[in-house]
Amino acid sequence: MSECLFCRIASRESPADVEYEDDEIVAFKDIYPKAPVHVLIIPKRHIASVMTAEPEDVGVLGRCLLVARRLGEVKGFAERGYRIVVNSGVDGGQVVDHIHFHFLAGRRPSRG
Ligand code: 5GP
Ligand code: ZN
Repeated sequence: MSECLFCRIASRESPADVEYEDDEIVAFKDIYPKAPVHVLIIPKRHIASVMTAEPEDVGVLGRCLLVARRLGEVKGFAERGYRIVVNSGVDGGQVVDHIHFHFLAGRRPSRG
């Protein structure tokens, strides 16, 4: 079994509330939501962070943004918008070392 929590979620070894899945990407509800809608979008293949991403990762990372677009449309935020966050490294607040896009919607973020 993988040591990486999000690899285990991607392979369905660990449970998650999955909102979207294809061959390369899975999106699931954050267990501690920080907004009314809080979904994590991840490549199934392990990429630790933006800080270690390689040119061959660009395609799947771009497609994660299209999954965010799709979530926005399906959940009714296509007009109002939403926030996409990628915490990177210790000082960036990244706790899980498997790259993930936070999709946050339903509340206007504070500035900063
Ligand atoms: P980070 O701080 O690394 O950018 O974000 C990690 C996110 O993963 C946090 O928002 C946290 O709530 C979420 N998280 C941590 N453990 C789990 C889990 O086991 N399941 C789910 N669905 N989310 C998790
Ligand atoms: Zn992983």
